[in-house]
Amino acid sequence: MDNKNIDAIVVGGGPCGSLAAWKLAKRGIDVAVFEEHKEIGVPSHCAGHVSINGLERLGLRLPHKIIENEIYGAVFYSPSGLKFRIQRASPVTRVLNRELFDKYLATLAEKAGAQYFTGSRVKSLLSKAKLVTGVSVGRKGAGETVASNLVIDAEGCSSRLLKEAGFHTLDRSMVVNAIQVEVDKIDDVDKNMVEVYLGQEYAPSFFAWIIPKNDGSAKVGLATRIGNARDYLERFMHKHRVASRKLRRSKITGLSMHPISLGGAIPKTYGNGLLVVGDAASQVKSTTGGGIIFGLLCARIAGEVAYEAFEKRDFSEKTLSRYESQWRKTVGFDLTMMLRLRKMLNRLSDDELDKIINMCTKLQLNTVLEKAGDADFMGRSLFRMLPNPATLTVTLCFFFHSLVSNHQLKQQR
Ligand SMILES: Cc1cc2nc3c(=O)[nH]c(=O)nc-3n(C[C@H](O)[C@H](O)[C@H](O)COP(=O)(O)OP(=O)(O)OC[C@H]3O[C@@H](n4cnc5c(N)ncnc54)[C@H](O)[C@@H]3O)c2cc1C
Repeated sequence: MDNKNIDAIVVGGGPCGSLAAWKLAKRGIDVAVFEEHKEIGVPSHCAGHVSINGLERLGLRLPHKIIENEIYGAVFYSPSGLKFRIQRASPVTRVLNRELFDKYLATLAEKAGAQYFTGSRVKSLLSKAKLVTGVSVGRKGAGETVASNLVIDAEGCSSRLLKEAGFHTLDRSMVVNAIQVEVDKIDDVDKNMVEVYLGQEYAPSFFAWIIPKNDGSAKVGLATRIGNARDYLERFMHKHRVASRKLRRSKITGLSMHPISLGGAIPKTYGNGLLVVGDAASQVKSTTGGGIIFGLLCARIAGEVAYEAFEKRDFSEKTLSRYESQWRKTVGFDLTMMLRLRKMLNRLSDDELDKIINMCTKLQLNTVLEKAGDADFMGRSLFRMLPNPATLTVTLCFFFHSLVSNHQLKQQR
């Protein structure tokens, strides 16, 4: 690179890194983005299922070629195969082509002036007197150090740099291994509904999914905390009493594996000369593993706070701490609530999950969710829906089962 002393360095050319870079570059800050892979968005490991509200909140009007489908709702299958369906009258979510989405955000940042260095892995953060002063980059066998006033860590959930530099990192006990395949076709699936499969036998501590695309192909995946994700996916695709029938004629056209952090946000996301965004900060919904919208909302705040720091020429923790207070105000409550829900869900046996799904159907909870549910801000929408008798009954039943299971688990130990 020509300039070895840059204003701001972004580690990682994923969506969160590019959005933060774009926000800064637009306001005249010299930004360099280092991405370890040769091509932005490749390899892609994500289902790209995001809420339309979330994209609107971010002001992102995406070109059509990025959008693989529009989704009206979800069909949940309990472990014994009971079905619970939530369907809106208009689309609520979109399925994005993650490679094209990442490239789109990177192009916005580049057009605003950010410089991208692909095939460039940041090896470590440089620091002096507890202030992050730049990074060390390894490229094509060679290495170089690049100085900066501010580093934005958007390295995703590996969080290697943070760990090495002694910062707080993800709760590894809550990281699940995800696997996803693309299949060429699928039978007997409503083209505008995602399918979610619950149960210990196929996706312990998480769920399996089928996400149809509008060309008739689909993304099929799952995550698990234990065992081999590939074995679980094979079992799901061939043995699951409902899914295997839908997938019997499907040919796999692509496979990816990647971890998802479900343990809630890391305790501190700023330091002297440092901000941490996206999966690196675990700004991920613990219920669904979705990290795009919340990560981008936080990355946008990071860009704004970083710009203020440049205006003041003050990159101290004190100034940068505003990032954390701002993002926690925006998504903190919902992240905390979803972490609690995830922990409770993980305690439920298959029988209990069956009972809860059964109850949701009997009490027609779908009618409440269809009106008031929010795919992103689930914590807040749960509180909004709580006065409804159906929501209250199911929530109490859920809490009760989770408490009993927790008590039984403790007694077994
Ligand atoms: C199977 C699967 C399905 C998912 N489905 C969804 C979904 O449907 N909806 C949703 O909202 N979320 C989903 N997610 C989560 C979503 O993919 C992440 O939350 C999102 O990608 C986070 O963006 P990010 O920019 O923080 O990190 P990433 O997208 O992981 O980007 C980080 C980038 O940093 C680069 N990098 C890492 N270390 C270095 C380094 N040292 N030097 C240089 N570059 C580096 C990486 O190569 C990568 O390109 C899914 C995740 C998985 C695994």
